[in-house]
Amino acid sequence: MKIRKIMVIGAGQMGSGIAQVCAQAGYDVILYDISEENIEKGMRNIEKNLVRQVEKQRMNEEGKEEVLAKVTPSAALQDASSVDLVIEAVVESMNVKRDIFARLDEITPDHTILASNTSSLPVTEIAAATDRPEKVIGMHFMNPVPVMKLVEIIRGLATSDEVYKKIEEVTKAIGKMPVEVNDFPGFVSNRILMPMINEAIYTLYEGIATKEAIDEVMKLGMNHPMGPIQLADFIGLDTCLSVMEILHEGFGDDKYRPCPLLRKYVKAGWVGKKAGRGFYTYD
Ligand code: NAD
Repeated sequence: MKIRKIMVIGAGQMGSGIAQVCAQAGYDVILYDISEENIEKGMRNIEKNLVRQVEKQRMNEEGKEEVLAKVTPSAALQDASSVDLVIEAVVESMNVKRDIFARLDEITPDHTILASNTSSLPVTEIAAATDRPEKVIGMHFMNPVPVMKLVEIIRGLATSDEVYKKIEEVTKAIGKMPVEVNDFPGFVSNRILMPMINEAIYTLYEGIATKEAIDEVMKLGMNHPMGPIQLADFIGLDTCLSVMEILHEGFGDDKYRPCPLLRKYVKAGWVGKKAGRGFYTYD
């Protein structure tokens, strides 16, 4: 069956970006969130991104309106009963994701593929909350979604080849590059990236350099487009902490121990750009 209609669950920074790129590729999209305020914020975010594309003359006004018309905001999970693919992008919590997948398993038609944008949680465990583990898969987009080309595609233990192929096709159709990886904590991207970010926060915690100096070293010295402390703010410090905890627990090795300073910022609610304040402050 061809995929025509997609529900994106979670209208935060990732979900709104995923909804946008799917709509731009011509899919009908439902953008669902548990918080009405975040649905509105997510829709505004999409519109803002499209306006920027019009200003840069990458799209005309008519194109912008067409894309916007393809995204329907929703506060009812029941609307998943009409979709061929769900892409879940809610908070990085196994309990929350398992609960959503169990409900989706009841609401969606049998053919519907259920994908998670988790950055690090085992797809196999999310799939086990459903009676269709062969149709559950990881689709790990990078932030910011409209800009970044990679989608890590994670096969759960039971994911079928047919489902893998369909998700590979959708990924290409939305202009992204699929890369296949197996289901282990942090997959490939965050297994490598997050310990580096955590180490950067340790160097700040131990007073080895200022945050600006740490970011400058990595930008000028390693040619990274953004320093690790700023990148942590952009990703969200809550997400960074969750990923480190999953690596720590998953491998049982203290080299993945989250930095206490990272914990402190999350406890303070200073979770990065999306909160207006992380290690840096934002308007
Ligand atoms: P976010 O905090 O910006 O958005 C999360 C959204 O989920 C919020 O709008 C919240 O209201 C909603 N939500 C929470 N519980 C819900 C529920 N039960 N039902 C429906 N909606 C619910 O977070 P984000 O940065 O967009 O991250 C979302 C997911 O994407 C996480 O799994 C994260 O690990 C993953 N991810 C994040 C990044 C990144 O750089 N931030 C990159 C790749 C993947």
